[in-house]
Formats: sequence, C-alpha cells, structure tokens
Amino acid sequence: MTRTIGILGSGQLGRMIALSAASLGMRAHIFAPDAATSPAGDVAYKTTTAAYDDEVALEAFAKSIDGVTSEFENVPSASLAILARHLPIVSPSIKALDTAQDRLSEKNMARSLGIATPDFWQIDSQSDLESALGHLNGKGVLKTRRDGYDGKGQMRVESGDDARAIYAEMGGKPLILESFVDFTCEASFLVARDGAGKICHFPAALNHHEAGILAHSTAPADLEDALITKGQEAVAAIASHLDLYGILAMESFIGTNGEIIFNEIAPRPHNSFHWSIEGLDCSQFEQLARIVGGLPMRTPSLRGGANSIWRMENLLGQHGPQIPTLQAQDDVSTHLYGKSEFRDGRKIGHITYQLFDSDDKSYKVV
Ligand code: AMP
Repeated sequence: MTRTIGILGSGQLGRMIALSAASLGMRAHIFAPDAATSPAGDVAYKTTTAAYDDEVALEAFAKSIDGVTSEFENVPSASLAILARHLPIVSPSIKALDTAQDRLSEKNMARSLGIATPDFWQIDSQSDLESALGHLNGKGVLKTRRDGYDGKGQMRVESGDDARAIYAEMGGKPLILESFVDFTCEASFLVARDGAGKICHFPAALNHHEAGILAHSTAPADLEDALITKGQEAVAAIASHLDLYGILAMESFIGTNGEIIFNEIAPRPHNSFHWSIEGLDCSQFEQLARIVGGLPMRTPSLRGGANSIWRMENLLGQHGPQIPTLQAQDDVSTHLYGKSEFRDGRKIGHITYQLFDSDDKSYKVV
C-alpha cells in the first residue's frame, strides 16, 4: 500500500521533502496554518490547514499518515507529542525541537557535550545586559533566543555600549549575548539517524553569508580530514543526545587556530545542503523521506566522482529578474519554491552547479 508521510510546515523544505517522497512512491500530507496555498501544499497529495496547536486536527492528521516530520523547528513540541500518541516514532524528536527552538539551550547542550562555543551570556533584563557587556571583551552579537532566522533578531554590539538603548531596541525579549568569533570560514555538518540509532554522515559544506543570509555553499568542504572528523563526531554526539530521528545540521565557525566552534543546530533539512539534490546520489530530502517513510537509509556518494565539487547559490526576491537567464544555462540546475511573491531578502529558490576548481569565484547569481 502507498505510504503517506506527514510534514508539519508548508515552506520550501516541505516542498522538497514531498518531491523526494513522490519519487520514492510515497505521498505527502502537509499540515500548516497556510497549507492549502503554499510551496509545500502545491506539490502534496493532501493538505490540512490548521493551527499547530489544533489538537483535533492533529489527531485526524496523525491517523491519516504512516510517519511524520517537521520541516522547521518552531513547531510547538507539544504538537509532536500529540502526534506521538498515534505514531510509534516522530521526527525529529521532541527533545530536538525543544532544544533547537532556543539558542541558549543549543549552546548549553553543545557545552555539556564538550563542543567549543563562543562565550555566551543569558540576558533576561537590562541589568543582565549591562553585566554581560562588562564581561564581553570587544565585539559581540546579541540575538533573540527564539524565532530568529536569516540574520533577523540580531545586533552587533561592543563592550562599553549603552545597555539601556540596546535592550529597548531588542524589545525586551529573552536574549543571548555571544562573543564575536573571528572565523576563517563557516562550515556545516549534516547527519541522518534512523529509528535504530544508526548514523549516516553527509559531506560537510563551506558557507558564505551576506547580511546574515546564506548566499552560497560549496561542498565537499575543503577542510583537513581531522577537522571533518571532529565536526562529524560533534554532530553525531548531538544527534544521539537529542534522540534524533531524521536529519540534523550543525552550523559552525572554523576559528583562526583551525578549531570548530559551534554556532547552532537545525533538526531538519538545511539550506547549506540543497546542493545534495544534484551533488549526491541520495539528497538530504530523500534521506529524510526514507527514514520517515520506513525505508532504509542510503550512504550518499558524490556524483561526478570522488573529487567533484558542487556549489549552491540562493536566489532571493531581488534576484527574480535573473531567473530566465539562469534557467537557460546548460550547466545550472534551477529550483524555484513557488513563492507567491518575490520579496527582497527572502529565499525564492536556489541554483546548483558543478565546480571544476574549488577556488572558482565566478558566481552566477549577481
Ligand atoms: P545565526 O542566525 O546565528 O546563524 O547567524 C547568522 C550569521 O551571522 C552566521 O552564519 C555568521 O555569519 C554571523 N554570526 C552569528 N553569530 C556570530 C558570532 N558569534 N560571531 C561571528 N559571527 C556570527
């Protein structure tokens, strides 16, 4: 019988999971407040349009699916708990959602697992900020603990700054202050973990952000083997600690002494691995659909040979006019997310192509 996987969330990640599920012969059922007309809903077998805390709708959804995952981490973990009454196992796990929703919990977890982090301080009041700015030696980044994405809810600060003005500007929300990391590059590591606790690594990616938004990723990351092993050990330890069922990415900085410094996790497909659709024989989306749909994981290998290099570039709203030119290029794969409008600074798609020299700086999105 055809299996149906449930996906909480209606964005581009849900869309690409649903497309992979379809090629595996499965159906996708999207659950979100805007499911009916959404990037994921457009390619799904079925949609449920309901709030994430609608218990009746969640119960009905659970009964209509064979497995479930969440395409973003800000779904209340209580919703996953309701689904868990009817499904033997839920992805990415209640613990993974709870931890990934809060930057402070993420950093405390990393520290408890012995993974290096920037210095950080919990900020719940103006006086907390005053005292943390006193301890900060130089530059820092102040972030909202919850709901920040693509550089939103972040502010660069320095020791000696006016805590009162800054705290007021951040709207009195729970915050975390981090010391500014002087990094040589940013790298992300992705791991898949199935219901039996078996782990499968993806090749790491090197990432470049502009204005807090990922601009492009190149993979496999041109880093020393020992560093890759260290990153993979860290992300595997996190996955086990969180009882992960599905996939999880760890974003990190590579410090000036060549050390890995934890930044954050995402217990879901990650933008910096979108190149895996073309670059690997099992993409991050296929791997997740397999796990949730009850198929065995695959060990992904590089397409184009062991030495091939792949680059992904994001398309933001302002890049819309370039789409016809990109779509006309033989060596470029274009993915569009079916967004209803092209807003500046918002992701509307991405492109992937093979690189023949890891130093090639000829970007295609301008
Ligand atoms: P985040 O939302 O935490 O991933 O931050 C977005 C981007 O801002 C990161 O990928 C970095 O480029 C930059 N950034 C965030 N935190 C720090 C930090 N503590 N030190 C230096 N750069 C940072």
